[in-house]
Amino acid sequence: MSLTTQFAALAGGGVLGSFLSLACVRFSPALSPAQWFIALCFPGSRCDCSQQRLLWLDTLPLISWPWLRGRCRFCHHLFSAESFITEWLVAILCLLVLQSFTDPADAIFVITASSLLLMVAAIDRHHFCIPDPLSYLLLWLGLLHATMTGNETPAIWGALSGYCTLWLLAWSYRQVRGYEGLGYGDMKLFAALGACCGWQALPWIALVSTFLALTAIVMLKLRGSIQENSPLPFGPFLAIAGWVTIVLQTRFTLL
Ligand SMILES: [Zn+2]
Repeated sequence: MSLTTQFAALAGGGVLGSFLSLACVRFSPALSPAQWFIALCFPGSRCDCSQQRLLWLDTLPLISWPWLRGRCRFCHHLFSAESFITEWLVAILCLLVLQSFTDPADAIFVITASSLLLMVAAIDRHHFCIPDPLSYLLLWLGLLHATMTGNETPAIWGALSGYCTLWLLAWSYRQVRGYEGLGYGDMKLFAALGACCGWQALPWIALVSTFLALTAIVMLKLRGSIQENSPLPFGPFLAIAGWVTIVLQTRFTLL
């Protein structure tokens, strides 16, 4: 990979990361998918403090953050570091994926799936919901990639068994505890991961995500950050476990 291509991959990844973080910031559970799409295009980015419209260069923290030290150009209000971190993560991911995957279809699949899972994790963490369009896009992406690689049967069974298993688990939980433990968003996301990775990978995804969630609960309790029975979104843990499986599966064809 030439130096120019590497630079282009980093820059393209940075722009994609900027778009993804904007989409997460402008999401609200009250918006319909169409309203969310409109909210992405209009209005332009403004400073929360001074309401000044940002210059286009300042909306790309990858460039403006070190320059302005993460502050507004006009009123020096400190911006959150989240979008800067997201841009760097996506930029590095794009570079690594383009270097490691020789098949362009695999590279596009991994970058798109990673982008969707990043949005799922960020939105579920803040709003305790997983937008349906993200899960459906991931589901169709998984089925399309499986069809191209001749794995459509495990993918279809993955989607079906993923949804049914979590539905059954949620139903049993509701019968025993008397309230909801898992949301429908988690079921749709698990089904989409089944379509991306095949049914054989689902037990591993469930095991790893549960382990991650339990570790997070123990750590948060030790720090005193959560109370007894306070809800913890499961989507981010499913997204992390699913993402690792998708990358390993596509790179090394495990199943
Ligand atoms: Zn400002």
